[in-house]
Amino acid sequence: MYVFNNKFYNEVQELARDVARNVVQPTAEKHDRNYSMPVEMLQAMHANGLLKLCLPKEFGGQGTGVMPGVDPLAFLLVIEEIGRFDMASSHCFQVHSHSAQMLAHGGTKEQLARWYEPTVKDGGIISWTGSEPGRTARGMYNMVSEAKRTSNGYVLNGIKNYGTNASIGTWNIISVSTEGMDPLEGFLMVLVPKGAKGLTIDEAWWRPTGMRAAVSPKLILENLEVPDHDVLVGPGFYPKCQGGSRWHLGFGANHLGAAQGLLDFAVEYLPKRGTAGSPHSQRVLGEMRMRIASARALLYQAAEMWGGSNIRAAEELSLMAKTVCIATAEWMVNETIRIVGTTALLNTFPLPRMIRDIHVHSTHANLDNTSQTLGKALLGMTIDTTQQQ
Ligand SMILES: Cc1cc2nc3c(=O)[nH]c(=O)nc-3n(C[C@H](O)[C@H](O)[C@H](O)COP(=O)(O)OP(=O)(O)OC[C@H]3O[C@@H](n4cnc5c(N)ncnc54)[C@H](O)[C@@H]3O)c2cc1C
Repeated sequence: MYVFNNKFYNEVQELARDVARNVVQPTAEKHDRNYSMPVEMLQAMHANGLLKLCLPKEFGGQGTGVMPGVDPLAFLLVIEEIGRFDMASSHCFQVHSHSAQMLAHGGTKEQLARWYEPTVKDGGIISWTGSEPGRTARGMYNMVSEAKRTSNGYVLNGIKNYGTNASIGTWNIISVSTEGMDPLEGFLMVLVPKGAKGLTIDEAWWRPTGMRAAVSPKLILENLEVPDHDVLVGPGFYPKCQGGSRWHLGFGANHLGAAQGLLDFAVEYLPKRGTAGSPHSQRVLGEMRMRIASARALLYQAAEMWGGSNIRAAEELSLMAKTVCIATAEWMVNETIRIVGTTALLNTFPLPRMIRDIHVHSTHANLDNTSQTLGKALLGMTIDTTQQQ
């Protein structure tokens, strides 16, 4: 695999690879079957420090990420390595790491000390729920769930869904609209602790065909009181800071890992099955290798651009990298099935789960919108790189 000149990247990759092989691989099937969170992975990442990779240094973390522009590739390497064995587990780490970076971007010292404490002390994980029923049609920032201003904070009501990590999250970022304000100006992000009165988490809602271990429940907000000290900056902060453009590469890295995972599977399986002599299979393997290497080169280059000053270029290259990685993983699915054959699709092998995960996870990335955004940029038209998932 890839060896970097950056010693830190090599170390992070090695730590992630160790967790992926020794903790994620043996437990992935169980969590897929039970729709349960990859708790063993989270414990291992707490023990080896990976859960703190994107927390600022002054709170005991490593201060890395695409948001601060410091060693931006580090957490993406973790996502890639875990994704090789289980995309669902990888997504749990991704949401936590994106959340940690987002909080650091706006939170005060007092807030960050409280919000990060459960992660630093006990390996607590953070969730972030923006999605809600019907939001796609209304537009990313147009939410029905609403916050009403009180004398010392807000009261929230509404229904959110797809809250990855929320079933065990020690802190949960929740986005809502502010009553009486337009969607952009009133877009509000608040932090809600585990077990808060007025927050009901419906885990049974999460029964998808793939990505089952990335447990992403429905959240019911009923007169949920949020004090001012648990508000991230205030209304309008998230759209203004263009936060949404920072998260494309996480999705790309997970699909890149999944594509590599399919290739790893085929390379191990074909000789055992006695079919490695097929010239067709050999050619397909070679093509898989080339496409994955190309996707990886693009993703790594896009990641490093977040360490520079040309943010627009980083945003556009990130959209491209995400698209190429997802398209590569999707292409790999059918090609892998064709060269390994149907026996590999029995549930005794990990292949069916890997395919289901790619199918579900690639679906919500809105690649058509991404391509349109890139085309508009080329034509000199105004684009919004935060509009993709
Ligand atoms: C595994 C997984 C984990 C997730 N984790 C999180 C999370 O942690 N936090 C979170 O907030 N969300 C999360 N999501 C939710 C995700 O970001 C989307 O909000 C959700 O998947 C959208 O649901 P849907 O595909 O049914 O969309 P729908 O609302 O049904 O829309 C889907 C289709 O609408 C079309 N479309 C796309 N854009 C537009 C548009 N602008 N106008 C009209 N039509 C359009 C496209 O054809 C698209 O496929 C997760 C989703 C999955 C699958």
